[in-house]
Amino acid sequence: MNFNETELSGYLDLFWQFSWPQWIIFSLITNLFLYLFSIGLYLFIDKTCRKSKLQKQDHPVTKPDFYLSLLTVFCNSLVMLIGVFLWKNSWIEVESILSVGIIVLEVLVLLLLMDLLMYFFHYAAHLPFIYKILHGKHHEHVSTNYLSLFVLHPFETIGFGLMMLVLLMCYDFSVASISIYLLINLIWGTIGHLNREFFPARFDRFLIGTTRFHNQHHLDETKNFGFYTSIWDRLFRTYK
Ligand SMILES: [Zn+2]
Ligand SMILES: [Zn+2]
Repeated sequence: MNFNETELSGYLDLFWQFSWPQWIIFSLITNLFLYLFSIGLYLFIDKTCRKSKLQKQDHPVTKPDFYLSLLTVFCNSLVMLIGVFLWKNSWIEVESILSVGIIVLEVLVLLLLMDLLMYFFHYAAHLPFIYKILHGKHHEHVSTNYLSLFVLHPFETIGFGLMMLVLLMCYDFSVASISIYLLINLIWGTIGHLNREFFPARFDRFLIGTTRFHNQHHLDETKNFGFYTSIWDRLFRTYK
């Protein structure tokens, strides 16, 4: 089947007709699936990758972390529903463009802008007062495991989501770009919390936020606040 723009807007029309109960079920199932995908990908890379561990031991997987990770899935679903609400009320408009050039450009813009926004919010999350109630939980994982990406205070999860929704309100991105960006974000977060280097060492020189880069942040909390790239850390002299 040849996927074209008319078909994509057809799918958008279908989603437009979803009732709220349908949206709630859809967002919960989608986010649960993405959570399982992340865990599956993590375990797959960890089992097949031959590179040595970054830290001697993985952080132990605990029951409270498991429950918190499920709460994160719930919060992500909530963010998705807020996004749908904004879309239905025309605060967010999406395009059904399928030109490869535009999509690549939009994904790059989303990655760079979100990286910059996350840099500032992450830096702020390390201010003592905010750190204690919000971000400290994530840093209980000095080493990491397959749940680390989802061990976040609910406000952090919702904060990240709202940041993205604000960006989507400022510019009409295409559905394809938003979906690709979100998938990259999930895969990046998963790989970034591996306890093994995944990227070749030279990637660091290309300003890419590698696994070692984020692992270093878990070891030294005053460095490496960026996520997808090391650009902002190098610029603001917090790079290690
Ligand atoms: Zn982390
Ligand atoms: Zn941090």
